[in-house]
This record gives sequence, structure tokens and C-alpha cells, in this order.
Amino acid sequence: MKENDIRPEELLNVALDLHKQDIEDIMKKKHEFIEFCCPSCGKNKNNLVYKKEGFLFNKCTKCNTVYISPRPTAKLLEEFYDNSKSMVYWNQVLFPSSEVYRKENIFKNRALKVIEICQKYGNDFGTIVDVGAGYGTFCEVLKELNGFERVVAVESSIGLAETCKHKGIETINKQIEEVVLKDVSVVTNFEVLEHLFNPEEFVKACYRVLPKDGMFVLTTPNIDGFELSMLETFSPNIGGPEHLNYFNPSSITYLLEKSGFEVLEISTPGKLDAELVRKEIINGNIDVSEDRFLQMVLVDQWEKVGESFQNFLEINKLSSHMWVVAKK
Ligand SMILES: [Zn+2]
Repeated sequence: MKENDIRPEELLNVALDLHKQDIEDIMKKKHEFIEFCCPSCGKNKNNLVYKKEGFLFNKCTKCNTVYISPRPTAKLLEEFYDNSKSMVYWNQVLFPSSEVYRKENIFKNRALKVIEICQKYGNDFGTIVDVGAGYGTFCEVLKELNGFERVVAVESSIGLAETCKHKGIETINKQIEEVVLKDVSVVTNFEVLEHLFNPEEFVKACYRVLPKDGMFVLTTPNIDGFELSMLETFSPNIGGPEHLNYFNPSSITYLLEKSGFEVLEISTPGKLDAELVRKEIINGNIDVSEDRFLQMVLVDQWEKVGESFQNFLEINKLSSHMWVVAKK
């Protein structure tokens, strides 16, 4: 998998320009932002690690979670997503233009992996609920694979919920906190946690809809992974107001355990860290000329060792893309 396959560059540049306008709009309401404690351990001792586009990124001194504070309130975030020009562009142009590729190469693998996880832990294949279903591609693939008796999309945005419905997916247009469902086997959420004003409330709401032994599967960035450690604010994954919370394997475990879950496994099956860092080196944004080792791996001997370096990151939980499997 190469980065350009999922984010064609020209279209991405248009989305980035629109995103700049969106940020300017929300920054006009900066005086309404509120202070927030660590979204994992709840402590408020932190160090400012970086600033980007007016947002302040703090690192918790206890658990190393990175988070934006002050942050837009839940209401401001809702307004942001309702009015975001870049979101419309993503939903109408970028996602559709790359959907065939994404479906086959991301969502199919994701769905097969969830099925594999349920088999591994002897879970049943009754109802699966995908929270923050977005464009609905994951639910669509799950239905095609026929792995579960019932597939439910929970999506709070009206526009995206409509997209899910048009795809023939059973869709609930609510926040998970308001959802009542019986006999749920699995709750999934992919790249949702980092977006939320209050991740703990969300995790607790997911816990509430599950019966005992129900599975909880999620993905979120790993801030201690190679890409995010190296690129910091040069990574498109680091930026407000979309991404407010950046966990690491131990801080996500703490958050889930505090909410009642038992964490079964954490993995980082990311494929793009090395390629993304290399790209920023070549673009001149990251300087590794003083670092003989990284210069060798990511530039001089890239063709020879690049792929196996990424494999090393993956198997040692050092990639920036994290999967978490837990049960109630
Ligand atoms: Zn913390």
C-alpha cells in the first residue's frame, strides 16, 4: 500500500485549502474554548509540546497522552462539523474518488480482521455496531462478507447517516450515548476516539451498550509511534480541531480499564510510517542529515530496507496506527 493510493495528491491539496478556511472560522471562537485535563488519566499536569494553527498540544506528565487544551466545546465541534467545507469535499469528492481502492484495501482487511478477532476470542457473530460509521464503507463490506447476523451503523452526522442509509445499512442517527440496543456482540469504532471532546464518556457509552463478554474493537493513532514521533506537527494526523486526543498503548489501556473493560490485545499494524517520514525528509521538512542511521534506512538504502524497517515498527508496536481489542 502506498500513501498516494488512498489520498490522491491534487484532490488532497484542495481539501487542505478548504481546511485552512475551516480553521480560520473556528478560531474566531477561540475565546469559547475550554481547558481540558488529560483524556486518559484525568490529571492536569502537562508540558506544552507543540503549537499548530493556533491549537496548543499538551503532553500529560503522568501517562504521555498528548491532547489539545484549551479545546472547542462539544457544541463548537458539532457546529464545526456541520459547517466544515473540507468535510463536504471529503464526503463528496475525496472519499468517493478513492472508495473502490479504500474498500478493497482498507475496509475489507478491516472487516476480515474484526471477524478474525471474534473467532480468536470465541465471540458470537450476532449484532455488530460500528460507532462513527462515517461513509458506511466498513458496514457495507461487513454485510457483503456475511460475517454477522446484523450490522448497525451509529452515525451522529445527518449527512453521513443518510449516506449509510442509501447503502442499505441499518443506521441510527444518534450519538452512542443515546443509543439503546439489545444483544450486541461487538462494538467497533475506527479513528473516532481522537476526534471526541470527551473520549471517556464515549468509551463508557460503548461499555453500556455491550453485554458481559461483549467485544470492543477500536483504532486510533499511537502518538509514540514512528510517524508521529518523527513528524510531530508535519503529520496531517496532528491537527485540531479534528484530532484532539493522542493516546499511546499504555494510556489507551488505562482509559479502557478505568471504564470497566479488560484489554485483550494492542497492536500497531500500520504500513505507512516509514514512507510518510521519508516523504517529509525528501520535502525538506525533516532533517536527518545528522542522523546517519535514519539517513541510511529512509533515504540511502530505502529500496533495500524500507519495507522491512516498517515491518520492524509494526511487530514492535512502534507504528503510529493502533488497534485495541477489549471485552466487557
Ligand atoms: Zn495522563
